[in-house]
Amino acid sequence: MDKKISIAIDGPAGAGKSTIARRLAKELGYYYVDTGAIYRTVAYFLDLWGVSPKDIDGVERYIDELTLNIEYDEEGLQHMIMNGMDVTNDIRTPEISQKASLVAAHAVVREMLLDMQRDLAKEYNVVMDGRDIGTVVLPKATVKIFLTASPEVRAQRRTDELIAKGQKANYKQILEQIKQRDYQDTHREIAPLKMARDSIKLDTSELDIEGVLAAMKKIISDKVAL
Ligand code: C5P
Repeated sequence: MDKKISIAIDGPAGAGKSTIARRLAKELGYYYVDTGAIYRTVAYFLDLWGVSPKDIDGVERYIDELTLNIEYDEEGLQHMIMNGMDVTNDIRTPEISQKASLVAAHAVVREMLLDMQRDLAKEYNVVMDGRDIGTVVLPKATVKIFLTASPEVRAQRRTDELIAKGQKANYKQILEQIKQRDYQDTHREIAPLKMARDSIKLDTSELDIEGVLAAMKKIISDKVAL
């Protein structure tokens, strides 16, 4: 099998990773792998069983009951299938965001998901986003980019996004949640959010989507013929 191209995008919550990664994957004709959605699905599953995300015994007891599949629709959108049920939309709540961040700290969860992520990158050209893609999942990724922005800018973007969807949004509360997730994701023992040594940092605070995309394409084109 020929070697596949992988673009690893890591960074904190709300840095614009998923929007950018999705656009990039579409333009390049690669698969977009949203690894956060995988952790969210685990958190959603445990929540349905009433298991607290901090309860390691409960997590270990129930995790074997979960069958996780990723499917792509004809538009290339990733769907999360939990024990045969499509939960793609159910996992997008602030509550599940927080729970996913706690669930993601357990070794048993991370180990279970590792091969799934690596297998996708073995089989397809991918743009994969998450927290530990460049450091742990794909240490030999073709290109590694670390997307970041100030917590205030990220909170404002999330607030705008929710309002645009017609949902309620409280900037202060969202800012607190973002800071809490940053803390949890960077301070956990296993695969904490950090920049890989060979990653290129891109601060998106002052850039709009088109600006970020242009900057990313420039970085990628140094390593991959676009
Ligand atoms: O990216 P998203 O906000 O959907 O991720 C939800 C949570 O899943 C993150 O806060 C993080 O704790 C966890 N996660 C992770 N490793 C990844 C992707 C997400 O630990 N590669």
